Amino acid sequence: MISFDIVELKKPLVRTEHPTPQPEDHQVLVRVLAAGVCHSDLHIWHGTYDLGNGKTLSMMDRGMKLPLTPGHEIAGEVVAVGDKVKNIEIGKNYVIYPWHGCGECKVCRRGDENLCLNGKSLGIYQPGGYSDYVLVSDSRYLVDIGDMSPVQAAPYACSGLTTYSAIRKIKEQVLKDEKVVLFGAGGLGLMAITLIKALGGAGVLVIDPDESKHAAALQAGADAVFNPRKDDIATEIKKAAGGAVWAIIDCVGSSQTIQAGQDMLTKGGQLVQIGLFGGHIDISTPFMVLKAMTYQGTYVGNLRELQELIALVKDKHLPPVATTCMHFSKAFTALLALEEGKAVGRQVLTPGNLDA
Ligand SMILES: [Zn+2]
Ligand SMILES: [Zn+2]
Repeated sequence: MISFDIVELKKPLVRTEHPTPQPEDHQVLVRVLAAGVCHSDLHIWHGTYDLGNGKTLSMMDRGMKLPLTPGHEIAGEVVAVGDKVKNIEIGKNYVIYPWHGCGECKVCRRGDENLCLNGKSLGIYQPGGYSDYVLVSDSRYLVDIGDMSPVQAAPYACSGLTTYSAIRKIKEQVLKDEKVVLFGAGGLGLMAITLIKALGGAGVLVIDPDESKHAAALQAGADAVFNPRKDDIATEIKKAAGGAVWAIIDCVGSSQTIQAGQDMLTKGGQLVQIGLFGGHIDISTPFMVLKAMTYQGTYVGNLRELQELIALVKDKHLPPVATTCMHFSKAFTALLALEEGKAVGRQVLTPGNLDA
């Protein structure tokens, strides 16, 4: 098998050949048909997250080891299974749940493997999808995508799951009754708009300073879009939301967006953050109580949520997010395009030379 690996942080990915593994016991060997290039792959490649105030969080300190094959948004065809695998068909396509936990701790047993402290996520702590094959440790991580295209399915493993899990954290009645305010109309934002609509949400109001993204947000189903550099957004958003803002999803996560979001929330409101832009905020502690405010972070999602999401996409025939496909040998080009802000839609690596 061939993979494109991070051998040194911030250096070009290295093409590596290894023997293709044979699955044993509960393992499954998947031929990668689509691997999404996610923004967190950039953090992994840099080896750090910006914590604000000049501080950074090191991925190596968190147990990441090099060389590493990145890629956690993976869909593909099962080509071989271990002898204990049941209910998985060779030749069928699946999306892989990549947020593996240790499988033994309390959190994992509760089904929240994405929150395990000894996580073994694919593409971070185990070889991921920038490769022609991936070995999955247990068949239960495979979710049947039916006749959905692997290119559509792959991004649901991270950007789709992250937004789905964030939306699920909003009180059900609030989601039905109130328009959700969304910071950021990039990939996560567009996914969130589509999913809020699919889940029967009352509407979405989008805030993004980049007006070139506004048309796509409206097309995805946003009720209105705002430019925070031009508009007096606090007043206008409240008006557009029907008087008060109850729920915010922040796909940016900068000091400015979180501060603006907190200031905008009404009493009892919720702010759910999925963006990892970096920064820090000051919280006036009495306001947490007096406004009965919820400020919650959410990290990807659990296996059950991925299963629900795939069922929702199938059931509502949701359109795929905009993607640019490229041969998986172009993994590093894709990563650089993301770094330079030049990526158009979700970049997905494929084994076929689809856009060449
Ligand atoms: Zn991701
Ligand atoms: Zn665990």
